[in-house]
Amino acid sequence: MSSIDLHSHSTRSDGKESPTEVFEHAAAAGVDILALTDHDTTSGWSEAAEAAARLGIGFVPGIEVTTRAKVQRESRTHFISVHMLAYLPDPHNQALLTELNETLGSREIRAQKIVDKLSVDFDITWAMVLETLQEGATIGRPAIADALVKLGVVADRTEAFHGPLHKSEKYYVATDTTDTIDAIKLILNAGGVPIIAHPLGGAKDNLSRGDLPEEHFEQLIDAGLAGFEVYHREVPEVAREWLRILAHKHDLIITGSSDYHGIHGKPNRLGENTTPPEMLDRILTAGTGAKAIL
Ligand code: AMP
Ligand code: MN
Ligand code: MN
Ligand code: MN
Repeated sequence: MSSIDLHSHSTRSDGKESPTEVFEHAAAAGVDILALTDHDTTSGWSEAAEAAARLGIGFVPGIEVTTRAKVQRESRTHFISVHMLAYLPDPHNQALLTELNETLGSREIRAQKIVDKLSVDFDITWAMVLETLQEGATIGRPAIADALVKLGVVADRTEAFHGPLHKSEKYYVATDTTDTIDAIKLILNAGGVPIIAHPLGGAKDNLSRGDLPEEHFEQLIDAGLAGFEVYHREVPEVAREWLRILAHKHDLIITGSSDYHGIHGKPNRLGENTTPPEMLDRILTAGTGAKAIL
């Protein structure tokens, strides 16, 4: 059976390795088909396609789109960050490109705000963050983490995320970005297949059934959501069972992936979770904006 991993990052966003290196490591790990899904950009696709062809493995083009959902809880409005994987969207679709470019701009402004706050307590500057990044790379907290590592504030990215870069810390600023339902529509209009990345990934394992946001998920499904990334190390067991039932009820796609960010980027390892071939077939049938190379 082939090993299909549908979520990975390169230096075009917050991964630590070039698209070529990511595919070399995938081939060495025995992955047969890999999707490159950098945050809010398609800039790694052509390099990935070349590397995959040379190595004799498959390439599925994707994007991990940063979105924000509005949810009502106890009659109050909350915003939650939702990462939406888009498989096979047309990389030249103007509406999608415009939205992605806006998000890239918001990410930069937001990262500068985080660095401003951090600079009160640490010797960090915006220039230090830019130094860790390749030109044109999507900016996120991992780049700030790398600067904090260089400064000796933390030992690695994970320590930074458990420390000063944690959501609950005073330095945190959220990214202002596309509404999740709008993003689903944009992806569909670009011929892409929208699948939620690591759904309920932030939720604790002791989540109870009653806490699961059924109404919110039903709204996304009504908007055209195609599936869930159920098999991902951050998705809690109780959520997996619930998502499988929901997917079955609506005949949705279920995927499994690593969310690789490089050997030194995150502990996630290529091929640690995989997608059944029949689920990839459904993605390939539904996606009409770009072609996979298999
Ligand atoms: P941001 O998009 O700027 O909010 O940053 C979130 C990104 O940081 C996610 O996409 C992850 O790839 C990455 N991330 C989250 N937790 C960690 C961690 N513990 N170690 C390394 N990277 C992480
Ligand atoms: Mn990332
Ligand atoms: Mn994500
Ligand atoms: Mn990811």
